[in-house]
Amino acid sequence: MKSFQFLINKLAKYMYPCHTNKILPGRNSFSILWIISENTLYISIWILAGFLLVPVWQFAGISILTIVWAAIVISIQLALKKHNCSGCYYYDKRCHLGWGKISSALFEQDSGSPELAQKLSLFYIVSPPLIAIVSISYALVEKASIGFLGMIVLYIVLNAITFPVRRKGCAVCAMRATCPGSSVANS
Ligand code: SF4
Repeated sequence: MKSFQFLINKLAKYMYPCHTNKILPGRNSFSILWIISENTLYISIWILAGFLLVPVWQFAGISILTIVWAAIVISIQLALKKHNCSGCYYYDKRCHLGWGKISSALFEQDSGSPELAQKLSLFYIVSPPLIAIVSISYALVEKASIGFLGMIVLYIVLNAITFPVRRKGCAVCAMRATCPGSSVANS
């Protein structure tokens, strides 16, 4: 525990001020299997969302909404690596998503804005219900195929699975007291 505190004190000056002194004992690094599994879940959800949007709005045979969705996912995820992960305790470490490593490969430590990060994080709250509402509305209006309905069900199930998965990661995360997305902030 002492060495953990020593590490925290050394790192504190590099973290966003809003995180300093709020780091709790937790896992310092997560297994590759954990990282791959959790990333697979999120990437599957984002790809599935892109498929659900394919028939909703097409122009000259091109799925406009899917292209817009892909651009949003890539740009917000990149921006979060800068504005969220560059000021995180896990910068340059294997956090439960491994994104601390991606952040250190792309951006300087503490080079983002925590206020902007908080706004960008709304992506995780807003996009799942929005995609579900758009695809369910499309299915009702256009009498969608069984396959499309099955994709909607899978999308909802995968999103539901993220709750226990996130809770499992948050429970052992050193950032759980200060991360705006923590599901166990008071534990
Ligand atoms: S714990 Fe969260 S904020 Fe920190 S590096 Fe990992 S994904 Fe980014």
